[in-house]
Amino acid sequence: MPYDKKLNQFQIAQTNKYNVFRCIVREGPINRAAIAKRLDISIPTVMAIVEDLFGKKVIRSAGKGESGVGKQPEILAIEPDCFFYIGVDIGRGTLRIVVNNIAGAEAASMKEPTGDPFPEKEFISHVKKLTLRFVKKLKIGPDRILGAGFAMPGLIEKGTGNVIVAPDFGWRGIPLQNWLQTGIPYPALVKNSTQALAVHETSVFWTDEVHTTLCVNLGYGIGAAIITGEDLYEGTGGISGELGHCVVDRDGPLCKCGNSGCLEAVSSGEAIARQAQTIIAHHARSKIAELCGGNAAGIDAKMVFDAAKAGDGLALKIINSAAENIGVGLSMAVNLLDPDRVLLCGGLMANGPDFLDRIKASMEEHLTAKADRDLVLQAGTRDEYSTAKGASRVLMNTLWARRALPI
Ligand SMILES: [Zn+2]
Repeated sequence: MPYDKKLNQFQIAQTNKYNVFRCIVREGPINRAAIAKRLDISIPTVMAIVEDLFGKKVIRSAGKGESGVGKQPEILAIEPDCFFYIGVDIGRGTLRIVVNNIAGAEAASMKEPTGDPFPEKEFISHVKKLTLRFVKKLKIGPDRILGAGFAMPGLIEKGTGNVIVAPDFGWRGIPLQNWLQTGIPYPALVKNSTQALAVHETSVFWTDEVHTTLCVNLGYGIGAAIITGEDLYEGTGGISGELGHCVVDRDGPLCKCGNSGCLEAVSSGEAIARQAQTIIAHHARSKIAELCGGNAAGIDAKMVFDAAKAGDGLALKIINSAAENIGVGLSMAVNLLDPDRVLLCGGLMANGPDFLDRIKASMEEHLTAKADRDLVLQAGTRDEYSTAKGASRVLMNTLWARRALPI
């Protein structure tokens, strides 16, 4: 069957338009001849597309550039506030929202505590309401919002944005993306939180030398994501990176996923707090007991870290054991993936460099020896909006790939 020539021409025209617009977004201010050279298309084609983009008010003139001979070329730049896009981090207990303009600059951010995630439909309606209310306050019309990316912890089905299971929320089989989309007048996209976090963190630490990054989120739970080049490796169904549910201690405590001794069940923020709570309930002579005022149920991971910093033996034992197991988990992941870099992010990394050093020592001890292994292990940004920013970035990447921008 012959190719449909008309459709083909339309596709070529669309591809050229997206490439020109993206070139101005990423590399602008830039002139027409430089765009043509960069994209290997003719100057008249660039001129026609630029005219069209001017008409849509998505680019602007940024003055005249230098020229060796003849007339000075007009420099083109993105109209930064022509479009905005949203990232929402649906955290356990806190919702964080960022709004960026098309140039990637942050226009606004906010956070607000959320209650129990039940009933699910009510909780999701609340998330929607907070998002829409925040955007309304910024006085940005829905026609200028390109979409909203939502980051959700748990197993998220690729393509549908359904929550397969979210142990931290106690959710199972929730059509999250569908429910969010109802009532939101622009595209809504759901992605796993750690995958979103990894997309942002990798962009912050971007260098040409690093090809594969393993990003590990050490917080209330534990997750990981793999970035190769600029792309997120999602796996067949979108559920790769469940490092937290790799078993590191077969005799360990029961995990929320149903297995025993998962990394998350022994080394997450929740696990650190739970271990301290159990011990302090029967053993009051510890700095941790002092920090929680005798209320064992009120112990959180930060108190255990603070007590460890003060030299408390019990706290040190809990933290060292958590770091040891994280190192074991990382050694398995590094042996399997052979990344250039491991980025450690999440709330637990806010507890000083000692924790990172302990994890590193354990990882190196368990890693297959390889003399020329050039692996960098470093802490992430500790930006509390990192996951929300990543969710917005994932959304934009998807819209670019689908050619779904109103241009
Ligand atoms: Zn588990």
